[in-house]
Amino acid sequence: MITGKNYIGSNLSAEGTTTYKTFNPLLNLENEPVYKEASSHEVAKAVDLATQAFKEFRRVEATRKASFLDAIADEIVALDDALIQVYCSETGLPEGRAKGERGRTVGQLRAFAELVGEGSWVEASIDTAQPERTPSPKVDLRKMSVPLGPIVVFGASNFPLAYSTAGGDTAAAFAAGCPVIVKSHPMHAGTGELVASAIVRAAEKTGMPNGVFSNLNSSGIEVGVQLVQHPGVKGVGFTGSIRGGRALFDLASQRAEPIPVFAEMGSVNPVVALPSALQEKRTEWAEQYAGSITLGAGQFCTNPGLIFGIESSALDAFIKALGSAIEEVAPICMLHPTIHGNFEKGKTTLAAQEGVTVAGSYSGAVAANFGTQKVITVSGSDFLKNPSLHKEVFGPFSIVVRCADMKELTGIIGNLEGQLTGTILGSNEDLESNDILIETLQGRVGRIIFNGVPTGVEVCPSMQHGGPYPASTDSRFGAVGIHSIKRWVRPLSYQNWPDHALPEALKNSNPLKISRLVNGKSTKNAIV
Ligand code: NAP
Repeated sequence: MITGKNYIGSNLSAEGTTTYKTFNPLLNLENEPVYKEASSHEVAKAVDLATQAFKEFRRVEATRKASFLDAIADEIVALDDALIQVYCSETGLPEGRAKGERGRTVGQLRAFAELVGEGSWVEASIDTAQPERTPSPKVDLRKMSVPLGPIVVFGASNFPLAYSTAGGDTAAAFAAGCPVIVKSHPMHAGTGELVASAIVRAAEKTGMPNGVFSNLNSSGIEVGVQLVQHPGVKGVGFTGSIRGGRALFDLASQRAEPIPVFAEMGSVNPVVALPSALQEKRTEWAEQYAGSITLGAGQFCTNPGLIFGIESSALDAFIKALGSAIEEVAPICMLHPTIHGNFEKGKTTLAAQEGVTVAGSYSGAVAANFGTQKVITVSGSDFLKNPSLHKEVFGPFSIVVRCADMKELTGIIGNLEGQLTGTILGSNEDLESNDILIETLQGRVGRIIFNGVPTGVEVCPSMQHGGPYPASTDSRFGAVGIHSIKRWVRPLSYQNWPDHALPEALKNSNPLKISRLVNGKSTKNAIV
């Protein structure tokens, strides 16, 4: 049952006076439950409790932490249809998407449980002493990753499950040994509360300290600002707009003790359609790209917002085919009237820019909050002159840029802001003959795709989801897959520490049987 209250640790709490409701974009009306925004006192209580919990949680054995993560996954599954119904009522997304995202969320939690249970993720590194070394003896040094402390996770509007309450950042932070305080996204507060209740139950069942998790409601920026400024908070995970992510990054940098902010923000995901691709497969690519641009009403950070080609009859034919294919797709409901409104405004503004023509758009009648797709086209020189054409329009929208030649195309790519992904459509031979273009694109992105579409983010260790700013504030550790655990840890070296007082991961006998770097060699052997 949804209470509309905050979880401060395992206690439901509603001290604040500000209330709000979520919105059903399909029915175009408010949902019934009333949510109480967290008060300043509740924010402070959540951080204090997390700080207390950290003292115990950071020392919880790996197997118990793994059980906690598995129990969260079990409790989310046990929410069953109640969760799916609330998710759909707060997003307008279909049941299939809700179930798919739940599967991804549960899979992420289980992957972190496995990682933590195995244990080698701490990257233990041991350099044994050489007392006989001349001219000076070498000390014994042993290093491993340790958790940062309480982490704040901002729920994302476009992924109510996989990037929100028990999403990738939360799972990674728990796995690392960090308590989590979630700033629930106001558009899906009910989904957030249900998932929060699952985490609280899992924490109680597996004996985790009270305060290992809190969930705070908010309909404005105050709760998030207070959390990021609180000295007890040691890191922040965020997915959303460049404006929001940058504001939080700046706040965190201005603190007496600056903390890391991993913000995943906007991206237009440039695609380069090389002449061979347009000669040989333009209809196929036009159909695939019409599908990718409109997937989930374009509400994905990997949506292909810019497609580049070189002026030719083949490019003209591709634009025509893409325009026709786009018109065939039935529009779907967007997440919220605000997101829909931003989309309509962005789409209309860009379509009215100098030199722009419309390649294709859906012009049929639609219900409220449905996102009607559009593809526009512009020359390379007009694109270069006009920075507003370089910005993300969040929704089913894309620009085909007609470049005069490869020099202009490569120059434009080099001038783009940082991106999550970049795509090359072409032949194997093209990869050899376009090395400057490919190197330039590689310098702007976190993932480079060959002959595919950027939407569809596989969750696995080799996925990089994060790119140079402003795609991310720090692209070294992405938001997807087990390596994101590195966001929430720091290395700690022990020098000349007696074996019995070392953490298990660094003891001579290697009781955890983990993989370690001992005197430069990777091994699971004990040190004798
Ligand atoms: P958002 O406006 O960036 O908000 C995300 C979260 O951050 C919300 O919980 C919001 O709090 C908080 N926030 C925003 N600005 C803040 C600030 N200055 N200080 C403290 N907290 C702040 O994103 P959104 O609401 O999810 O969607 C709005 C737009 O973001 C979309 O139209 C889209 O353009 C973009 N977006 C992009 C991606 C992507 O993957 N590229 C994903 C999602 C959204 P409150 O809502 O409580 O104010």
